[in-house]
Amino acid sequence: MDKASPARGAIRRLCYHAWFTILRCLGLSSAVFNCDLHCHSTCSDGLLAPADVAARAAANGVDLLALSDHDSLDGLLAARSAAAAAGMGFVNGVEISIEWQALQIHILGYAFDSSHQALNAGLESIRAGRVDRAQQMSSELEKVGIAGAFDGAMRYAANPSLISRAHFGRFLVETGVAKDLRSVFESYLVPGRPGYVDHRWATLADSLAWVHAAGGLVAVAHPGRYKLSRAEMRRFLAEYKDLGGEAIEVVSGSHTQEHVDTFGRYAREYGFLASRGSDFHGPGESYFDLGQLAALPDGLKPIWKAF
Ligand code: AMP
Ligand code: MN
Ligand code: MN
Ligand code: MN
Repeated sequence: MDKASPARGAIRRLCYHAWFTILRCLGLSSAVFNCDLHCHSTCSDGLLAPADVAARAAANGVDLLALSDHDSLDGLLAARSAAAAAGMGFVNGVEISIEWQALQIHILGYAFDSSHQALNAGLESIRAGRVDRAQQMSSELEKVGIAGAFDGAMRYAANPSLISRAHFGRFLVETGVAKDLRSVFESYLVPGRPGYVDHRWATLADSLAWVHAAGGLVAVAHPGRYKLSRAEMRRFLAEYKDLGGEAIEVVSGSHTQEHVDTFGRYAREYGFLASRGSDFHGPGESYFDLGQLAALPDGLKPIWKAF
């Protein structure tokens, strides 16, 4: 999920723990507002239940958390009540899968009314084909000699309607086909590689319309991860801005320092609010734990001030 090595990730985690502990001991915890607005639970492809995600975030010193499961709002209530029990702020979140010029892109929605009909119907429409797609993925993997992938991936999916490539990835690691998730996504499950199956996701315009109708704000998830040229990225950001997109993730568990600098510049240039999120999926799997990322660069407008 990110470009840093596991060792560097572990060192960075230790540094953040030490930094936040020192600030807290000095009574300066209010000087650092620790927001983590991107993470996953077992309601999509995370490894922890929603309440456990919230409890872990609070233990890591997060002040404001958004659970942002893929295409699902199922975990929000449980995460919100665990956040309240731990005295941590919580905001509704979701990560919506869209397609833009044949690329799969992720749009984050925040601070929306989770009972809004159009948002729920929209998410339901993109969840609908996931099980069929998983069956096709399994047949494609069978063609290269990997048997039983559908059942194997399903064993990891606490919420079967959200069966995802991450669950297939875990199965491929379990069976020794690949050594870790990063290698899975280098050789399998991506366009041009075994196990990849196209899918109809939401359009950019739909995803923004659903979140806005439900009273929320949107951010582009991990923009550094998409295989877009500079000109294509500019076209995407201009279209996103025209559709009313408010924010982009600048500090992300998937971003290198170079990405942080680049998307910090884009945020200033296009007038986007800036977001910060670990994209935590689970212990031992994600290099960045909840709340343990660098702060937003100076001079950016944090999205959480607009909630
Ligand atoms: P899907 O929604 O089924 O297309 O699956 C997408 C999910 O697969 C992402 O949300 C990640 O959890 C996981 N994923 C995609 N690319 C990578 C990668 N390069 N490394 C690790 N996980 C990945
Ligand atoms: Mn995921
Ligand atoms: Mn994503
Ligand atoms: Mn994510």
